[in-house]
Amino acid sequence: MNQVSARLNSFEESATLAMAAKAREFKNRGFDVINLSLGEPDFKTPAHICEAAKQAIDSGNYFAYPPVAGYADFREALAEKYRKHNHVPYKAENIVVSNGAKQSIANAMLALLNPGDEVIIFSPYWVSYDALVKLSEAKPVLVNGSIENDFKVTASQVEAAITPKTRIIIFSSPCNPTGSVFSKYELQAIANVVQKHENILVIADEIYEHINFTGDFISIASLPGMFERTITVNGFAKGFAMTGWRIGYIAAPKWIADACVKMQGQLTSANCSIAQRAALAAITSDLAPTLKMVEEYKNRREIVYNLLKEIPGIKSNYPQGAFYFFPDVSSYFGKTDGKRTIQNEDDFCMFMLEEAMVSLVPGGAFGDPNCIRLSYAASEADLREALSRMKQVLSRLN
Ligand code: GLU
Repeated sequence: MNQVSARLNSFEESATLAMAAKAREFKNRGFDVINLSLGEPDFKTPAHICEAAKQAIDSGNYFAYPPVAGYADFREALAEKYRKHNHVPYKAENIVVSNGAKQSIANAMLALLNPGDEVIIFSPYWVSYDALVKLSEAKPVLVNGSIENDFKVTASQVEAAITPKTRIIIFSSPCNPTGSVFSKYELQAIANVVQKHENILVIADEIYEHINFTGDFISIASLPGMFERTITVNGFAKGFAMTGWRIGYIAAPKWIADACVKMQGQLTSANCSIAQRAALAAITSDLAPTLKMVEEYKNRREIVYNLLKEIPGIKSNYPQGAFYFFPDVSSYFGKTDGKRTIQNEDDFCMFMLEEAMVSLVPGGAFGDPNCIRLSYAASEADLREALSRMKQVLSRLN
């Protein structure tokens, strides 16, 4: 018997998680796989954050259900971070803490969308945006950025894609998977378009806020008139190496925060009490460990960029943030090693996994089937080895 819902069948399995599972399976079978598929920091959570979690356990005060939206002092600390560093006047009442930024986005979409509504997704996009729109029974409208424009969608493209059914525009900056970072000027142009339409909200995914090599980070919610229009999404996984702790949050106008609390109250209740205390320590202490990690990511970006350039037929932008490359590998489509032919980006990734023991994610899941995603949240030694293996096996194709 198989009676899964039409809703479930309307979207694909998460490609990032699927490739990570495949890499794990190969590893368990004894293969020396280098996993560049999952966007997961290879650093450990900084010690003072772990210490705060231990203290929370030892205090005996954090075993009960927390409030659905998160602990009051944690919400206040998150609001203060946005007031001080991002120049957005959020208060604790605007914050909802969830089980990772993915749940934050899911809450918002489920709370705000009706069947038939349209959501403009800047493409290439993070794999779950499209699935969560479909889960909400709304319609994804992809607007494509091109590699020539650093994969950035322009305000005029957004304007052209808006219809009377458009309700939400979603993007990440720094972007997963392309590493592109919107400038203030570009965000202002998008904000100007949004403000011509009174029913359109923006979901601004800022999860890679700290992993930004431009030295300039702008929250679209800080631009004039955008506070009321924006759901800011952020979390601790990337900037603080806390993927497993599962702490994400939104900052949004109170009516949206309240709607997300209602949704979350029926889905998962509050997020893990101990993880919240750990994240409170992270957000209220200085950013030195984060900045050290960012410096390391920046070095790795340079290394990978230069090594990718040495592989013939691979075309890449120069990412300004996050920890991904999203190169165009389509010049390999149609080529063969005599045993098999690479028809598309799925074949390319399977070829890499089976022949080079390097796991990557096919770009179709991010909206561009000419590309593949490579995460450089891995050690320098692994990155050098992976790129050397990739170059070697690709040289066998013609
Ligand atoms: N956001 C990460 C990635 O894109 C984590 C995996 C996921 O949840 O999709 O690889």
